[in-house]
Amino acid sequence: MKNRGKKKIIKDIKVDIDKCTGCRSCEMACSAFHSVPRYSSLNPSRSRIRVFMDELQDAFVPVRAGEFTKAECSGRSRYVINDKEYSECAFCPASCPSRDWFREPDSDLPLKCDMCKDVPPLDEPMCVQACKFDALIYEEKEEEVEVKTPQPEEMKNGIDALIKKYGAEVVRDAVNRATKR
Ligand code: SF4
Ligand code: SF4
Repeated sequence: MKNRGKKKIIKDIKVDIDKCTGCRSCEMACSAFHSVPRYSSLNPSRSRIRVFMDELQDAFVPVRAGEFTKAECSGRSRYVINDKEYSECAFCPASCPSRDWFREPDSDLPLKCDMCKDVPPLDEPMCVQACKFDALIYEEKEEEVEVKTPQPEEMKNGIDALIKKYGAEVVRDAVNRATKR
């Protein structure tokens, strides 16, 4: 059974490809914000946002770094948008062995967009602040999160698994301790 009720803030950066000029200010701002010490260097290869560029087609696609993947995918997709063809990996946010994007140049560690998490929080992520062409638009929305209430059958399966792993006596002692609190 699922209950509604919990609220969660979803942060989102909308990308308007038609407005992107390929200036790469977003890459600079991201790399500066994440440099150590902060703002000590500008290096697009350390940025968590990269602008895919195809000057001949006048195509620029900003992509934020997503999850790390150990292996490159075996099947790829090509996109045609307004008669412009985008290469196979143009929209992919993965830190993947098939390319140098989204990997720390010195250590090779994967990079991932963290939405510029900071204390106190920024009004807008750095890449959005740096984009003077409104190609990156920051949006926050509140969503209700479904909270799942465990059902008797699920609880029984969970307890059976614990008993199998730790033995009935250990589980009984743990339940007794927890219910006496
Ligand atoms: S939101 Fe922050 S971490 Fe993510 S790409 Fe933009 S500047 Fe980099
Ligand atoms: S700063 Fe804006 S216009 Fe410039 S490359 Fe990045 S997304 Fe495109």
